[in-house]
Amino acid sequence: MTDRYCVFGNPIAHSKSPAIHAQFAASTQQDMQYEKLLAPLDGFTASVQAFIAAGGRGANVTVPFKEEAFRLCTRLTQRAERAGAVNTLVFDGNDIFGDNTDGAGLVRDITHNLGFELSGKRILLLGAGGAARGTLEPLLAAKPASLFIANRSADKAEALAALFGQIITVNGGNFAKIAGNSFDLIINATSASLAGETLPLPPGIFATGSLAYDMMYGKGDTPFMQQARTQGAERCADGLGMLVEQAAEAFTLWRKVRPETAGVLADLRTQIQA
Ligand code: NDP
Repeated sequence: MTDRYCVFGNPIAHSKSPAIHAQFAASTQQDMQYEKLLAPLDGFTASVQAFIAAGGRGANVTVPFKEEAFRLCTRLTQRAERAGAVNTLVFDGNDIFGDNTDGAGLVRDITHNLGFELSGKRILLLGAGGAARGTLEPLLAAKPASLFIANRSADKAEALAALFGQIITVNGGNFAKIAGNSFDLIINATSASLAGETLPLPPGIFATGSLAYDMMYGKGDTPFMQQARTQGAERCADGLGMLVEQAAEAFTLWRKVRPETAGVLADLRTQIQA
């Protein structure tokens, strides 16, 4: 019988995950189907249970259910535990196993696809929401020299820094607190770009050879990428590669075979630019 997977979200119509997983399944000869399912805002758990009862083997979880998914799991990976959020579920009898592949996807896109080495680098992470939190453990595992978390609400950045600060020096504060420092990698994990807004970034924060990475993606440069170029970033990238790589991590967990991502990413890029 064909194995069933899905992505739960609300809204979900925009999701590119079914197309990505269909390409992975074809290229690795996996007998599986992957659909998108709209879960009611007050009915995520019931939707998951119905999918399991119908024979579902696993699922991805997107906005706004990642924290609820975390609470639903009977077992978690360490990175999901520390992220406090789950984007990948594996169903096995009564067992619901949860992982968070967002951070690994980001790190793989930066290191493998963009060829940017993280070890010894000074990283600035903008934002302290779910996406920022989910990427901290994999980013710190890559052994950067330092990591600063800057957020509009400074208290959230400070709390996150305190939570992860035992691995390397992690500091946090508002955007003004980064003035006078420069960074090799600046990652935008805020949703400011979604509203077309730019961030109050002090001048001089982009070091020579720096990479500006926006987790958001779309047709052409995002507002953050435009701002970063103007302020001196040498290279810019959006989050489309992260999307494909987090999907590949989930697929590998489910099917025990790692799909090739370069062709899928190239196809998606062409579709988005059209
Ligand atoms: P959350 O709602 O959890 O967090 C939003 C963050 O953005 C908070 O830090 C918030 O600050 C900040 N923020 C919102 N508006 C502004 C603004 N106008 N100016 C400054 N800061 C602002 O969202 P997520 O963490 O889930 O998602 C963040 C981004 O990451 C989104 O754009 C999302 O699309 C993207 N993403 C991309 C993925 C990919 O695969 N490419 C995967 C996951 C997320 P405050 O705390 O002060 O409110």
